[in-house]
Amino acid sequence: MRSGRASRYDAIVLGGGPAGAAAAIALAGNGLAVALFARSRGATRLVGETVPPSIVRPLARLGLWESFVAAGHRASPGTGVIWGGEAPFENEFIANPYGAGWHLDRERFDDMLLCAARAAGAEVRFVAAGDSLDIQETPWLIDATGRASWLARRQGARRHSCDRLVALVRFARLACADDRTFIEARPDGWWYAACLPGDRVVAVYFTDADLLPPDRSRHWEREFGETRMVGGLAAAARDWSSVSVVAASSGCLSRFAGPGWLAVGDAALSYDPCSGQGIAKALQSALDAAAAVAADLAGDRGAVEAFAAATAQQFRKFVDSRSANYRREQRWPDATFWQRRHGRDELI
Ligand SMILES: Cc1cc2nc3c(=O)[nH]c(=O)nc-3n(C[C@H](O)[C@H](O)[C@H](O)COP(=O)(O)OP(=O)(O)OC[C@H]3O[C@@H](n4cnc5c(N)ncnc54)[C@H](O)[C@@H]3O)c2cc1C
Repeated sequence: MRSGRASRYDAIVLGGGPAGAAAAIALAGNGLAVALFARSRGATRLVGETVPPSIVRPLARLGLWESFVAAGHRASPGTGVIWGGEAPFENEFIANPYGAGWHLDRERFDDMLLCAARAAGAEVRFVAAGDSLDIQETPWLIDATGRASWLARRQGARRHSCDRLVALVRFARLACADDRTFIEARPDGWWYAACLPGDRVVAVYFTDADLLPPDRSRHWEREFGETRMVGGLAAAARDWSSVSVVAASSGCLSRFAGPGWLAVGDAALSYDPCSGQGIAKALQSALDAAAAVAADLAGDRGAVEAFAAATAQQFRKFVDSRSANYRREQRWPDATFWQRRHGRDELI
C-alpha cells in the first residue's frame, strides 16, 4: 500500500501457489525487494495436475524449464474424450509446436516454484490463518491467494462466478502405462482422470453444488460406475482416498487492481478446470503483473491499469471458449447442468 512511509520491501506477495511463487521470482528478478507470505499446505493434497504443452513458455521465462523437465513429471500425448456424442475420440498434441502436455506431481511442482522464489532472492515466510501480517507500508501488494482473493476482498473488490461448479476429488494407487488425460461428459456433470507420477491416479467428478446429494462418496461411486473411459482407466486402482469436495467455479473479481495492489492467478480469475489452463494462466498473469509493478515503480503509471484491462479481456475470451465447449455437448437437453451452460452467460 502506498502510505508514503519507508518499507523493507518493494512488494509483498500473499499466497505461495504457482501464481504467488512465479510473481515473487519475476519481481525479485527485476531487482525488487520481495517477501512472499505462504500458507503451509499441511496434509492437504493439491488438486490440478494437467498442464498443456504451452506451459514451456512461462516456465522458460521464469528460467525453470530445465528443472521442470528433470523433475519427473509425466509427459502426456493427449486426451481421450467422450463429449458431444457417444463415440470416444482423441485430442492429440502430435501437431503441437511445444510437444507434449504434462501430468504433474503437483506438490513437487509447487515446491520447485517456491524454492526458485527463494533462490531468486525473495524472502519466503510461512504464515497461518489469523496471523497479523505487517503489510501496510509496502508500495505493492500482490494478491495470489487463489479463490479466496483474500486481499482483493479487503480492498472492496467482489468475486463474481459463472456457476457453482464443485469437484469431487479422489486419488488412488495405480501402476499405469496410459499417459493420456480422460474427459467424459455425463448427464449431470463431467469427469476427468489421469495417471500421475509415482503410480497414482486422480479421478474427479464435476457437477453443480446444488445438484449434489448429501452422500458424496456414494454419489462419486455411482457416477464412476457409469463412466466408460474414466472407469476403464481407474478400475484396477486401490487405496482410494476419501472424497474431497472443492470449489471449481469459473469467476473473476470486480476489479483486478487498485492503489498499491493487484491480483494474479485464481485470485483474479478462476477458469473451469475443463480448460486445463489454470496453472499456465496463473504463471503468465504473475509474469505480467510483475512487469507491471516494475514499470510502475520505474514511473510508468499506466502499466497497472493496462495489466487490469488485459486481465478483463482474458476473462471475456475464456468465457466465450467455455461457452463454446459446453455447447458442444447437446445429448441431455433436459438436464439442469447442461441447460445452465447453454443459456446466456451471466455472472452471479
Ligand atoms: C478440481 C480442480 C482441478 C483442476 N485441474 C487443473 C488442471 O488439470 N490443470 C490446470 O492447469 N489447472 C487446474 N485447476 C486449476 C488450478 O489448480 C489453479 O488454476 C491454480 O492452482 C491457480 O494457482 P494460484 O497460485 O493462482 O492459486 P492456488 O494454487 O489456489 O494458490 C493459492 C495459495 O494461497 C494460499 N492462501 C490463501 N489465503 C492466503 C492468505 N490469506 N495468506 C497467504 N496465503 C494464502 C493458499 O493456501 C494457496 O497456497 C484445477 C482446479 C480444481 C479446483
